[in-house]
Amino acid sequence: MNDRRGPALVVPRTGGSDVLVVEDRPAPAPGPDEVLVEVAAVGVNFIDVYQREGVYPVEPPFVACNEGAGTVVEVGSAVRGLGVGDRVAWGQAAGSGARYVAVPAAVVVRVPDGVDLDDAAAVMLQGLTAHYLVTSTYAVEEGTTALVHAAAGGVGQLLVQMVKALGGRVVATAGGPEKCATASRLGADHVVDYRAVEDLAAAVREVAGGGVDVAYDGVGKDTFDASLASLRPRGTLALFGGASGQVPPFDLQRLNAAGSCFVTRPKLLDHIATRDELEWRARELLEAVARGTLEVTVGGRYDLADAARAYDALEGRATQGKLLLLP
Ligand code: NDP
Repeated sequence: MNDRRGPALVVPRTGGSDVLVVEDRPAPAPGPDEVLVEVAAVGVNFIDVYQREGVYPVEPPFVACNEGAGTVVEVGSAVRGLGVGDRVAWGQAAGSGARYVAVPAAVVVRVPDGVDLDDAAAVMLQGLTAHYLVTSTYAVEEGTTALVHAAAGGVGQLLVQMVKALGGRVVATAGGPEKCATASRLGADHVVDYRAVEDLAAAVREVAGGGVDVAYDGVGKDTFDASLASLRPRGTLALFGGASGQVPPFDLQRLNAAGSCFVTRPKLLDHIATRDELEWRARELLEAVARGTLEVTVGGRYDLADAARAYDALEGRATQGKLLLLP
């Protein structure tokens, strides 16, 4: 037992951001395979929204959030290789929205020197996602042309930079001039303000000089058709989210008409399922942050008690980069 306590962000029932409450709770006792972490920062993600709304079912009440970084303060009896005082981060562990969180040791990675805990909390979930999209879902290589939607967002900013680092060409979309400027600054070769064009696929094909090899689409409902129409024959549409809503059922015959195209709907958990794969992706990601070759933009920091404002901003398209909650 310990006498540590702190705030926890609780979802008492499914619903909008107004259901969120902060409770003062004792620190959980870590199980044999867990570490107890004093959390420095919690990442704000769409998966938290989907869970709170019941799109991804989780039985309420539950502690919100999935991503964080902090310092180990207690170690479960069966844990090897981690000790008190270690700086750690993780991208997917249920109940991460609290000052003290018991996290399975299997999902945490050490944060290297040169990466602060805020940046680690900001980059794990979205960065591991961008990493698997560009290495495994459609492996970008020299000369690949990739369409990246919502390029000023959390995953989007990282995708733009990773495609460029691999020698690819980026056609980015973003909503409004400020977000378009961010995408350009991060290296996008062409940027389309998709709020300002009538025919998005035509605009993409025009600046790309033809169809793109891959469309990375986390916007979903509003962009899916344009993503498909932007592909070259045998191109790939990687639909990885639904910020604008989920894509309705889809007639496979459309892939034939589009030119023998591929559609996939990947998720992070399937790409960090083994310890080796998690460590490989996290090492490449965090080393790039430490070297300064991958820029992490924290677009806002909110006290845990103000979490509803953070989610309203994310869901309301008002953010760039990553939002953090400080417990
Ligand atoms: P973002 O920071 O990208 O925020 C979402 C952005 O999407 C907005 O800023 C906005 O950018 C754009 N957008 C377009 N239409 C809408 C709309 N109707 N409502 C809200 N946003 C809209 O979020 P994340 O980086 O956290 O996540 C991006 C996507 O990636 C999400 O769909 C998420 O679920 C998915 N994801 C999937 C994972 C996976 O493994 N499958 C893992 C992690 C995230 P703009 O104003 O420029 O249009």
